[in-house]
Amino acid sequence: MNTFQSIPSEAHVHLRTWMSQEQDRFLRTHVASATLQTRCDAHYLFGMPMHWMRDWPNAHGLFIEEASEATLKCVDRHVYADFCLGDTGAMFGHSPQPVAKVLLDSAFHGLTCMLPAKCAAEVGERLSDVFGLPMWQMALSASDANRFVLRWVRAITGRQKILVFDGCYHGAVDETLVDRLDSGEVVDRASVLGGLHSHAVSTRVVPFNDLQALQAALADGQVAALLAEPALTNCGLVLPDENYWQQAQALCQRYGTLLIMDETHTVSTALGGWSRQHGVEPDFLVVGKAVAAGLPSAVYGFSNAVAERMEQAKQSSPQGHSGIGTTLSGSMLALTVLSASLQHLHTPSCYQLMQSGADRLASGLRQSILKSGRPWTVTRLGARMELQFMPYSPVNAADVRAAEQPVLQQLLHLFMLNRGVVITPFHCMMLVSPVTTSAQIDHLLSVFDEFLEGLAQFNL
Ligand code: PMP
Repeated sequence: MNTFQSIPSEAHVHLRTWMSQEQDRFLRTHVASATLQTRCDAHYLFGMPMHWMRDWPNAHGLFIEEASEATLKCVDRHVYADFCLGDTGAMFGHSPQPVAKVLLDSAFHGLTCMLPAKCAAEVGERLSDVFGLPMWQMALSASDANRFVLRWVRAITGRQKILVFDGCYHGAVDETLVDRLDSGEVVDRASVLGGLHSHAVSTRVVPFNDLQALQAALADGQVAALLAEPALTNCGLVLPDENYWQQAQALCQRYGTLLIMDETHTVSTALGGWSRQHGVEPDFLVVGKAVAAGLPSAVYGFSNAVAERMEQAKQSSPQGHSGIGTTLSGSMLALTVLSASLQHLHTPSCYQLMQSGADRLASGLRQSILKSGRPWTVTRLGARMELQFMPYSPVNAADVRAAEQPVLQQLLHLFMLNRGVVITPFHCMMLVSPVTTSAQIDHLLSVFDEFLEGLAQFNL
């Protein structure tokens, strides 16, 4: 039952009619994509290089010929303003010039050699400058970085259990793929394939923004680490209450639990991420996706005190595989690109452009919603925002679930796609890059107005 049902369920039949009109329009106008889809169907699971590339509302894949700045061009020559930005990987725009240039220049000087590239020292310094923590290690993806950090925290605390928030996503990390039922019971996430062990046994899950629940979960001193996004971004955008994190961190410290901030998405909040902006220094910080402008690379940082414990743990265990790290992590290529990305993209000027674009987008969306009289909200975190079909910003994942309107959401996504605007397929998240133009923002806003008018015309 949807608590915030702004569209009555009997009207869903109208939504579905409208949806099929939009599907027809997509099919009529994406003939070249359809041809590629047929060829891909013969060689890829679900017809896609990654099965989740099918998680878009359009009837078949949208094949991209070129992505540059905040613009996508598909093989049918349609142009799209991109507010998905590779679900944050392209947060600074597609193929940013300084990174593309370094890639070209460095391609002839070595890609990987199991030795540190000359720029390693400089990358370490830049990471510390941007994110505040002194010590760093590399991974190929945020999933990997989280996985490795979880190994470290168990190794250095000698504790088995970890704690996450209801509605979390930290990548393909077994320990985090659990759900909290309304009863409070923790279960393995039903959608996960091929699980071997039940992680519901070793992972605790509490609602976000609930200090009492957090304390109860930590109090027996068995939790190695709290792995968290500073604001939930993967079940919909949920902001932390004021001072929530100061108090949550104090609780972690009281019970000897390490705090891991996964800033893979919230790095869009401000230069250096949410934690840096709010003066919260975690024990570990994870950043993937945009850290190297969308090249496969992720980093995790930690304090000197934690580094000492990590070194002790490694030295006191037998020689051999640690289960941490992969061959191509921290390669010459990754370090070279990281260096360019940190120098040219993780900068005050890029973030200023992102913020001012996001100001324009958020205020335009809010004005349109107000004019339409819909009980909807735009929740904002720096350059990222989320349209939510509920009258106030949610405080936890249960709030988000109560307001879900999957059919309406899919229709909005497809409607926008058919009019040259791409937003993330999973919920209604929009991200503004430093190269997103005012014209692109205004285009999204006018398509959104058209959508609201359509809803009214369909009596929805
Ligand atoms: N952490 C967070 C907060 C994420 O949102 C994601 C992916 N959406 C990941 C980790 C995993 O990133 P990747 O798929 O690049 O490993």
